[in-house]
Amino acid sequence: MEATGLAEPGGRRPPLQGDSLRCGVVIAGGAGLAGHCGEGAAATLSAVVAPPLQGGFVAMRRGDCGGCWSGGALRRGRRSHPFGGGGTAATVLNLLDLGRGDSILPAAQFIMNYKISQRAASLAPSLTLAIDSKAKALKAAGEDVVGFGAGEPDFDTPQHIKDAAAKALADGFTKYTPSSGIPELREAIAAKFKKDNGLTYKPSQVIVSCGGKHSCYNVILATCEPGDEVIIPAPYWLSYPEMVKLAGAKPVVINTSDKTEFKVTPEQLRAAITPNTRLFVLNSPSNPTGSVYTPAEVKALGDICVEKGVLIMSDEIYEHLLYDGAKVQSVASFSQAHYDHTIIVHGLAKAWSMTGWRLGFLAAPEPIAKAIDAVQSHSTSNPTSFAQKGGVAALTGPQDHLPIWLAEFDKRRRYAHGKLSAMPGVTCVNAKGAFYLFPNISGTGLKSAEFCARLLETEKVAAVPGIAFGADDYIRLSYATGMKNIEKGMERIDRFCRTLVK
Ligand code: PMP
Repeated sequence: MEATGLAEPGGRRPPLQGDSLRCGVVIAGGAGLAGHCGEGAAATLSAVVAPPLQGGFVAMRRGDCGGCWSGGALRRGRRSHPFGGGGTAATVLNLLDLGRGDSILPAAQFIMNYKISQRAASLAPSLTLAIDSKAKALKAAGEDVVGFGAGEPDFDTPQHIKDAAAKALADGFTKYTPSSGIPELREAIAAKFKKDNGLTYKPSQVIVSCGGKHSCYNVILATCEPGDEVIIPAPYWLSYPEMVKLAGAKPVVINTSDKTEFKVTPEQLRAAITPNTRLFVLNSPSNPTGSVYTPAEVKALGDICVEKGVLIMSDEIYEHLLYDGAKVQSVASFSQAHYDHTIIVHGLAKAWSMTGWRLGFLAAPEPIAKAIDAVQSHSTSNPTSFAQKGGVAALTGPQDHLPIWLAEFDKRRRYAHGKLSAMPGVTCVNAKGAFYLFPNISGTGLKSAEFCARLLETEKVAAVPGIAFGADDYIRLSYATGMKNIEKGMERIDRFCRTLVK
């Protein structure tokens, strides 16, 4: 069998699978890497060109263990030969006159025993990103892919916001700012909380950060430690449990379903609280479900947290994206005690379409804000200076883009919901917030990852499997994409479901 894709440097015959590589120690195929400078039997080339190993090789002279290699390049003596892809095995053989005791190692696997911290190693890889990159690869290959994966509005940032940042740049506003944000922006945020939520925060209680995600992380880092439990209702935004793990604390997931519009009940919350519970994560409107808790529902959950002395991280980043007359009320607003137990996380990404700007903020009781300020001052320092000027324009400038966006989102939401509800094997709650629908696909007989993989494969539609959000009977569809795409995508999903449900 021929080893495909191998280059033929020097005009020599490329090595074939099955050839013997009689040059000493060849450690491949993920076998132990220890002792690679020692004596060893010849290995066959098939091991070298086996698919998992085609990413690159490191060759080394006997005794040079760890000394003369570099990933992505063959080093021979003092000379380095870059290589990669399919040419690797041939390059190894032709460039290096290896002798007994020399080693050829797959670069991806010959690693200086890098120790990955338990903290980082425990993180789950992002399924969302995996789907997204597969969809992008298909698109790049010329396929007509319909993407429902976007977690960001498809509208541009309003012009006056861009102008403010451009002016800041032109004016030379390009240096460090206070780590928790410029006073002007912290004041604008405090004014936003007063106007929209009836909440009084001093600017010192407001921390501007590099995105809502950064704010969430800093809250968790500043309040949780090993032994603490953090209650997270599922379906959840997929970063919450991973952030909790990064802080060394334990995520405690409460499952909900479409039967309660994905809302956790007071009874469920009460039952999940233990003496170790430190934080309850409330996200309304929700990513991934689009669910919106009513003010009464929020209060009931807040009451329990107050009674039990549990802090609430209230992620209100989708606050302004509401439909069907839905109303939100921040949990911090019900009483002084609710206020004292709540940290509000927010950001400019969604309602001002500023995802790439990396600007988020939070408001917290003073001691917590101080602790978060300290965390931030030693990690990221300030959010980007000129982006903050854009943030001021976003919060204090005209808001007339929003009703236009909401009308467009609503039109798409209604259309997609109507189509999904008519599909065999699918049911769908018509969510009242954010820009997501979270249909139940269990009637098709498939779990979410297989459903999405096959949907992408056969119909070229990218959706995010619910398993990524802790809910395997659902998929997430973002309608932050043009109506034409939605029409085309719905037709394809419908066709796909009809092949599954006869
Ligand atoms: N919270 C929720 C619920 C979100 O969906 C997102 C964005 N996907 C964020 C926080 C963070 O947004 P950003 O960091 O872009 O401001």
